[in-house]
Amino acid sequence: MAWYKKLHWQIILGLLLGTLYGVAAANWGWGGFTANWIAPFGKIFLNLLKLIAMPLVLASLVCGVASLSDFKKLSRMGGKTIGLYLATTAVAVTIGLLVVNTINPGKKLPPETRAQLQEQYKSDVAKRSEVAEETKARGPLQPLVDMVPSNFLEASGNNRAMLQVVFASLLFGAALVLVEERKRKPIYDVFAGLQEVVIKVVHLIMLMAPIGVFALIADTISTMAKDDPSQIISLLGSLGWYCAAVIIGLALHATIVYLGLLKLLTPLSIKQFFKGIGQAQLLAFSTSSSGATLPVTMKCAEENLGVSKEVSSFVLPLGATINMDGTALYQAVAAVFIAQASGIELTLAAQVTIVFTAVLASIGTAAVPGAGIVMLIVILEAINVPGEGIALILGVDRILDMCRTVVNVTGDSTVATIIAASENQLDPPSG
Ligand code: ASP
Repeated sequence: MAWYKKLHWQIILGLLLGTLYGVAAANWGWGGFTANWIAPFGKIFLNLLKLIAMPLVLASLVCGVASLSDFKKLSRMGGKTIGLYLATTAVAVTIGLLVVNTINPGKKLPPETRAQLQEQYKSDVAKRSEVAEETKARGPLQPLVDMVPSNFLEASGNNRAMLQVVFASLLFGAALVLVEERKRKPIYDVFAGLQEVVIKVVHLIMLMAPIGVFALIADTISTMAKDDPSQIISLLGSLGWYCAAVIIGLALHATIVYLGLLKLLTPLSIKQFFKGIGQAQLLAFSTSSSGATLPVTMKCAEENLGVSKEVSSFVLPLGATINMDGTALYQAVAAVFIAQASGIELTLAAQVTIVFTAVLASIGTAAVPGAGIVMLIVILEAINVPGEGIALILGVDRILDMCRTVVNVTGDSTVATIIAASENQLDPPSG
């Protein structure tokens, strides 16, 4: 097949053309046209992905757990998965802290820029602080309580309540293992059938991906620039060191931790891995949502990396919900940056607090655009840095969100590949 007929090249083309269009739109003041005539296609594409995410999580997890015919296997795989997720996230935060403490971006921010940013983003901060305030006011065990839904339909009707659906699906799947075979079979078949259908729907939705990605990127750039591209450039200039710290940290984490683990623990070559999940990474970058990317992450892991359905159905939906290395790393860098810019020295104890709170906060972060910055406020308060400090970084958050979401999705795929290899359930493509 000619290269340009391959979907991933078409998506890359959509991304490039969308970027060019976005810059042109910002330059020539086409903001209104873009919002009315281009952005809706991105929204439709995103809605389609979100539409399929919840049924996919439900069907995959129920089948994933119920097919692990005994509890021993379930607890072994569950233990390994959660252990790897937590360990890689803690390493990500530590890398973030090392990088930000080496570059010290907050100390390089001119005081006038700080004052100007704080003024410009005052109202945005108020909105996010309210949400963070509610999160904080709810006692230390509230995240546990939040995980358990009291009404399944309500939980499955809210994409932000993915963790509740994960919990209910795990419980249901586990109970299904305990039911006698004759009664289990028809129910299992329904969920397995549903999973097949959902994957087919994902294939259909992906046909629209090049256009969807074009529209999403074009709209993101044109909205950020607000018909004045010099704004983005000056923001990037003043916050350049901060953005560099986040991006260097993310790149280090991906190369040292993911590539290292893949080399050590799986037979896949690095090229095979990145070629295999490229589509999911592109989508993570353009949607800034690992939840919306999940259907494609699963498709890539199964079809291109050779991860068994049993492993991918269990590891990936769980990862999309609780494993966010990129977000945790970014939160660590951002917290130290804001502290430095506000003239607050962070003690070693405060930095250790960042490691713990960032790991927990990234678990609780919803897999949707911009969720990481709300949880960042909670981390800031834990180390006694005023939450209003996020005004400094709001302007560039979308760009960093795109990058950290790519790392979140890459981390989930890495762990899925490792678990599959350790369970003898990895059948890598030849070549
Ligand atoms: N957008 C990220 C994700 O969906 C979460 C965040 O860091 O805001 O993975």
